[in-house]
Amino acid sequence: MPEPGRSAAVLDLLDRLGPEIVVVDVDILGSYRRDHSAFADAGEPAALVRAQKTSDVVEVLCIANRYGIPVVTRGAGTGLSGGANAIEGCVVLSVAAMDRILDIDVPRRLAAVECGVLNGTLARAVEVHGLWYPPDPASREISTIGGNIATNAGGACCLKYGVTGDHVAGLTAVLADGSMLVTGASTRKNVAGFDLTSLLVGSEGTLAVIVEARVRLHPTPSPASTLVAFFASPEAAGQAVVAILEVAQPSLLELMDRTTVRAVEKMTHMGLETEAGALLVVQSNSPSAAIEMEAASSACAASGATYRAHTTDVTEGQLFLEARRAALPALERLGTTLLDDVAVPVPSVPAMLEGIRGIGERRQVTIGTFGHAGDGNLHPTLVFDAADPESVAAARLAFDDIVRLSLDNDGTITGEHGIGSLKLPYMEEMVGPTARSLMHGIKRAFDPNGILNPGRAI
Ligand SMILES: Cc1cc2nc3c(=O)[nH]c(=O)nc-3n(C[C@H](O)[C@H](O)[C@H](O)COP(=O)(O)OP(=O)(O)OC[C@H]3O[C@@H](n4cnc5c(N)ncnc54)[C@H](O)[C@@H]3O)c2cc1C
Repeated sequence: MPEPGRSAAVLDLLDRLGPEIVVVDVDILGSYRRDHSAFADAGEPAALVRAQKTSDVVEVLCIANRYGIPVVTRGAGTGLSGGANAIEGCVVLSVAAMDRILDIDVPRRLAAVECGVLNGTLARAVEVHGLWYPPDPASREISTIGGNIATNAGGACCLKYGVTGDHVAGLTAVLADGSMLVTGASTRKNVAGFDLTSLLVGSEGTLAVIVEARVRLHPTPSPASTLVAFFASPEAAGQAVVAILEVAQPSLLELMDRTTVRAVEKMTHMGLETEAGALLVVQSNSPSAAIEMEAASSACAASGATYRAHTTDVTEGQLFLEARRAALPALERLGTTLLDDVAVPVPSVPAMLEGIRGIGERRQVTIGTFGHAGDGNLHPTLVFDAADPESVAAARLAFDDIVRLSLDNDGTITGEHGIGSLKLPYMEEMVGPTARSLMHGIKRAFDPNGILNPGRAI
């Protein structure tokens, strides 16, 4: 993009939206360059637009489309794949201030929200109506509904309730040329035409800017019973995951290895047992929770659990979940981190855990592994010294090894964090040339000038 065009576009933005919304201060721009991921490239943005309303988004896209300037939509910037990182000369379009809850429709069990509403804010707002918004990424207090939808975020509840996309009834989005698109319906069932809602879910800002979402709500589930089990090794915990799912249908099944538990204990001083090789947290919120937990506990014993404890105390159960949610921030205190996100069929979880341990030993990298083990979704997190080129190189190699290990185990290159730019090198291998070329064709249909997060996600 030649400099004059870029400058003219920024002048047009300033002219139409004013300096309160259009920011060109380089220090402020610097703080909007990156999401939460390490390693992914980030360029220098030409401007930041802090959209307050849908018409601001329309203005940005009309101007950017006219000048051919890339637009990177940004929710809260908690993404872990570089998807919200600035592209050189782009407009960063922050939608975080579009944060109104528009409607909570109790009889229809639907909520309408602007895209910048934080997940946790929505969850609390519907709770007072006896309703529940299930998607629960560990980042729920800091990530937006728009970002969750654009990445099709997962979380601990996916095992029983599915991913974000399973709870989206419809979307309002602005297309690259500034026109409005409304998808979905308020009904529980709707099969009219292509499912454009699902197409936008997980599209990582490459097809449209989501400005509003209508999401499905559920009755508040019964309080969960919690089982905590310790194992001598992550592999034994992995065997237990397989065994538990053969005899029970838990609502949640999370894993932390010793490195992760130690990091969490160092940060939180919760009194966690730090000698075990791995820890599983299992919950059931079904009417037969007592039977489910008994069966899960026996499965853990048969897989060699060194300690098991069962509680129906909700606060106690919550504490273990808080420990699990603290995994990434705790590991980040040990050094620079590169968090991977892979998912394999559940029977392959023990082999993955064994393989990850071997990679850590071979590459001489500290790896803390945690994740949504019941979904086969693991987050091996590489901890390294960013100032030491050898340590950085080893982390990069280990990251690649882990992705390959997942592919070799019939897994995916990303279970919930998305492709962004971090996983783009593996995309062709993952989906194949035919699917990828179709995806590029769909991108062209939505965004003929290729201004929306170009070079990302597909
Ligand atoms: C501590 C921590 C824990 C986490 N735990 C989880 C977890 O358990 N599960 C999980 O899935 N992820 C998790 N994440 C990753 C991250 O929080 C999710 O990917 C989240 O969905 C990103 O939301 P965001 O608002 O921060 O989006 P951003 O990071 O701002 O953007 C993410 C992507 O979505 C696009 N985008 C954002 N908003 C819109 C919009 N309105 N319209 C179109 N495109 C848009 C961006 O362009 C980008 O490609 C975690 C992150 C952290 C830091």
